[in-house]
Amino acid sequence: MLKDNIERVYQRIAASCARIDTDPDRITVVCVAKGRTAGQILEVINLGYKNIGENRVQEALEKYKQISGAKWHMIGHLQSNKVKEAIKIFDLIHSVDSLSLAKEINKQAVKISKIQDILLEVKTSPEVTKFGLAPDEVENVSREINKLSNIEIKGLMTIAPLADNMQEARPYFSKLRQLRDKLNPEWLLSMGMSDDFEVAVEEGANIIRLGRAIFNV
Ligand SMILES: *Cc1c(COP(=O)(O)O)cnc(C)c1O
Repeated sequence: MLKDNIERVYQRIAASCARIDTDPDRITVVCVAKGRTAGQILEVINLGYKNIGENRVQEALEKYKQISGAKWHMIGHLQSNKVKEAIKIFDLIHSVDSLSLAKEINKQAVKISKIQDILLEVKTSPEVTKFGLAPDEVENVSREINKLSNIEIKGLMTIAPLADNMQEARPYFSKLRQLRDKLNPEWLLSMGMSDDFEVAVEEGANIIRLGRAIFNV
């Protein structure tokens, strides 16, 4: 049952928060619904979980039409030619990985008078994905993005490499936190997935992105 999964997830988040003496309310859980049906999304929304993550614009658009009351998160790589559609539905784009993508988002956001909230995706490990800014590029790119009128940086996102033991993810999450602390202490951290979210929470995650831990029933 989805309800049991979500309850278990919250117990695990609460336990991680207790270990570092912070409040579980600090954490936003994004339910990653790629490959899941609109019906399954409605089920989690009815349980009170309104943050929905998708990694493909087309799939998200189709479900968006069938669902109201959700906050939509774009977590996958975003191509420039999909920006126009994406900004119509996404409250937060987690995966901005270049200045040119940010400029396109800004350009399209101006047209519909939206301020688009984004996170900068940072490549904290060499092997995991081909997308993401190098840690030492983030400062310059964020400075340029801050000059744009209709896009607002809310924080940083990273994906840790797959590992047998979630402790192996810790250095990557820690690296993202240190970068945030250096560049803008107000920024949020989107880090942690089904296999490593407890460590991400311990390292200061504000947003965790969970697919299998919620939807695998
Ligand atoms: C699929 C995906 C997730 C969720 O993965 P699970 O391991 O199923 O929790 C989180 N973040 C991104 C970027 C993803 O693509």
